[in-house]
Formats: sequence, C-alpha cells, structure tokens
Amino acid sequence: MKILDQQFIDNQWVASSATRTLDVMDPYREEVIARATVGDSADVDAAVAAARAAQPEWQALGGQARSEYLEGFADALTARREALIELSATNNGKPLAEAGIDLDDAIACYRYYAGQARALGERQGERVEVGMEGVEARAYFDPAGVVGLITPWNFPLVTSAWKLAPALAAGCTVVLKPSEIVPLPEQTLAEIALDINLPAGVLNLLNGDGEGIGAPLASHADVDKVSFTGSNRVGEAVMKAAAARTAGVSLELGGKSPIIVMEDADPSQAADWVMAGIYFNAGQICSATSRLIVHEAVAEALFEALATRMDALTLGDPLVEGTDLGPLTSAKQREAVNAYLKIAEQEGLVAVRDHTRYTLPEQGYFAAPTLYRDVPVESRLWREEIFGPVLCARSVRNEAEAIALANDSDFGLAATVVSGDVDRARRIGRQLKAGSIWYNSEQLVLPETAWGGFKRSGIGRELGPWGLSAYLEVKHVVGPA
Ligand code: NAD
Repeated sequence: MKILDQQFIDNQWVASSATRTLDVMDPYREEVIARATVGDSADVDAAVAAARAAQPEWQALGGQARSEYLEGFADALTARREALIELSATNNGKPLAEAGIDLDDAIACYRYYAGQARALGERQGERVEVGMEGVEARAYFDPAGVVGLITPWNFPLVTSAWKLAPALAAGCTVVLKPSEIVPLPEQTLAEIALDINLPAGVLNLLNGDGEGIGAPLASHADVDKVSFTGSNRVGEAVMKAAAARTAGVSLELGGKSPIIVMEDADPSQAADWVMAGIYFNAGQICSATSRLIVHEAVAEALFEALATRMDALTLGDPLVEGTDLGPLTSAKQREAVNAYLKIAEQEGLVAVRDHTRYTLPEQGYFAAPTLYRDVPVESRLWREEIFGPVLCARSVRNEAEAIALANDSDFGLAATVVSGDVDRARRIGRQLKAGSIWYNSEQLVLPETAWGGFKRSGIGRELGPWGLSAYLEVKHVVGPA
C-alpha cells in the first residue's frame, strides 16, 4: 500500500505536519490502496513560501525556456502512459479506454501551452494602436504570481493539466492540491518535476483534504490567485476566502447541460451521442448532457435506440478491456446518486430504464444506467446536478420550446445540438447560454478551445489563450513616442 504522508515542497518530499490520515480507495475492489495525510496549514505555509521564493526567477526565464519544461511534462507523461492509465483507472474506477483519452488530453494540454509560452515571449512589449498623436503604448503580460490550484476527482491528470500548464507557461509558481479521493495519478507530476529538473519551488504538490489544505490555501495571504474546479458549495467558499483579500479566482463548477435532438435527426446516430454525453465516466462529468430535450416526432424512436444501447452496456472491472461502465468513484458518490433514485421513485418518474433492469456487479460502487422520460421541470432530478449515470428526458414540439427549455437552468457549462441540418444545429447552438456547444458530435474537448461556464457553472475560462490569460496581469507602458 502506498503511504502519502509527505508533501512535495521546494523539490523535496517532506513529512506533513498533520498526524491524521485518510484512506484512498480502489472503487471497484473496495480496497484501501493508499493512506494519505489530510495535510495542514503549516504545509501550506511552507509550500507558498517556496513558490514565492521561486517566482521571480521562473518569470525571468522567459516564455521560450519555460516552454521546454512544459514539453518535458508532455514527454514524461507520454513515457509513463501505460502505467498512468492503469493507475487512473484503479483509483478513479473509469474504464482503461477512458483513462487513455484523459491522458492524451493532458499531454495535448502541456504541448499546447508550451506553444503558448513561446508565443507569450514574442508578444511581450507589443505595440497597441492608440488614437492620440505622438503617444506610444506597449503591452506586457506579467504572471499573476503565486497561484493555488485545487482539483476534483473525476478527471485525474486532466483538471490539473488545464491549470498547471497555463500557470507555468505564464510564469506563475504553483501550489497544487489534488483531490484527496483520487490523489495517486497527480503524484507523478512531482516525480516528473524532479526528472526534468524543474527549478525548486516552481511546482509544490500538497496532499490533503479540504479542511487540511484546501481552505488554508484558498485563504492564504500570500497566494495571488486561486483556480478551483469542483462543486458549487466549495467554489463559493473559495470565492469568499479570496474576496477577503481581493485575490483573483477562476471557478469551474457544476453543470446540468442539455442535449437537444430535433425531428430531422437520425435517432440511431443521435442515440450514440446521447449515450456518450451521460454514461462516459459513469456520468461523473461536469459537462454531462444530463437533460435530454427531444422533439416529440422522434422521441419514441430515440428512447428505443437508447434502451437497446443501455441494455448492451457492460458494467464491470475498469481494468478489463471491454468494460463500458465502471463503478462510481466513491461510496459517498454512490449514496448521492441513490438518493436521487429514491426521489425519482417518490415523484413517480417514468423510467425507460432504471436499476430494476440491471444486475449490478457484486463488488464496486456501481450505479445502474438510468433514463427517465417526461420528467417534470420542477423535479429535482431535472434541475440539480446528479453526477452519476442518470439521464432525464422531456419532449418538445418545436425549436423555440427546445431552446427555452435548454436555457431554463441555473447552470450553463455545455450543450449539444443534434439535427439533420447543420445550419439549423449551429443556429440553435448560438442561442444557448453555455460555454461549450457541440453540434452533431460527441463532446470534443480541444486544448485550443475555451472551457468554462455561464451562470452558476463558474467564472472565467480554461484552455486556449483564455486559459493563459487567467494567469496573466496585463500591464501597459504609455508615454511619448
Ligand atoms: P469538491 O468541491 O467536493 O472538491 C473539489 C476540491 O476542493 C477537492 O480537492 C477538495 O479537497 C477541495 N476542497 C474541499 N473543501 C474545500 C474548502 N473549504 N476550501 C478549498 N478547497 C476545498 O468537488 P468534487 O466532489 O471533488 O468534484 C465534483 C464537482 O466538481 C462537481 O460539482 C462537478 O461538476 C465539478 N467539476 C467541474 C468541472 C468543470 O470544468 N466545470 C470539472 C470537473 C468537476
């Protein structure tokens, strides 16, 4: 069993000051696979001090030199690919194929921001056209400084890459806190930092929970910015903590995203995209399209196509090729999903498929894939993020109804539109209030395109040049030409 009782600070593994530990589980085998420190504020103080001391030199290195380290992360992750896929699958419970997609996403992200770091070096001091004769203005892009990065458990190595890569590209130094539920894959980042000779203090990695590390990091007086991905409840606490010292925050929070299927769509093709949008990672996806909005003319055919596909899903060991659906990542998450299934029962929701249709594997925190139809808009299952393999559907009579229903949500992270007419799909997409819109496609997540939400889904954007901007302060130098 792995013991994570040390913190990675200033390029050294040092014992945590905390004495309490927590169990890290394999959610399929229901076995303890590691024991980790909960961490405490003394660990945070030491890590922030190391990051602060390292920041000026890291900034002074320039974008070109920093890009080489980012390429180093991408190369080292590639070299460890197979082992990391297995580790992610074991700690998170996701099937191997999905863990492979995650890893490739993370690698692409480090490569992309290596390019952005080079381009940033070239952009320093760029002329800005001003309308005043004889005046010259130049723009510089300084790093935000020392940043705290806090990540959830659903996409190990991915959510950290989306923060760490642009932060390092920008010239920030970092204190990274991975989720205490899935901390194992991220330990690799510290090993890689040593392997590629990343200067000491640039990346500090702290193991621990919200109380031990998360809260002290979010409220630390010497942390310039906090980038957080996780639940709304904790995101709001992070924002409050940052507000007390007017520090910046980026928040990637929850979602309740729609998938719209219009009457001119091929139901069989649409069913594939609906399936991928909700049953990937057992529905533990912030951008899960968990609200299916289907034109009444195609609803029956679509439900039938979905039922056939749901019946064909293989639930089982994430490490066995051919498993489609692994367990949920924690017993707590299974409890949360089961609570919603209870509510569905109490509300008398009509199931196309529910748990009564499946025999769940004997071990593992499994939840059966579920599809309810004609779900009332007031139902908690329609309105709240469930974070499990639970799909709720409603039929509509026309495009306007579909758009209005899609936008009737507290959240606005993502949406998918399926139509036989590409122009129509794009037109509908343009009217949706969400940060990522896909049409006639599965969820394509690309390092070049932005990620982030409208409304309660968050503040700011990750990925693309916007993800870099999140770690930059813009400075204008203006005077006589
Ligand atoms: P969570 O909010 O419980 O935890 C996220 C992280 O915050 C963990 O590392 C946790 O230890 C830490 N934390 C807990 N309390 C804290 C505190 N008081 N101060 C600072 N940090 C604290 O979320 P989770 O259960 O790990 O993840 C699931 C949630 O994440 C879902 O709501 C999901 O939608 C969201 N999510 C969003 C995105 C996105 O890009 N928008 C991506 C993935 C997950």
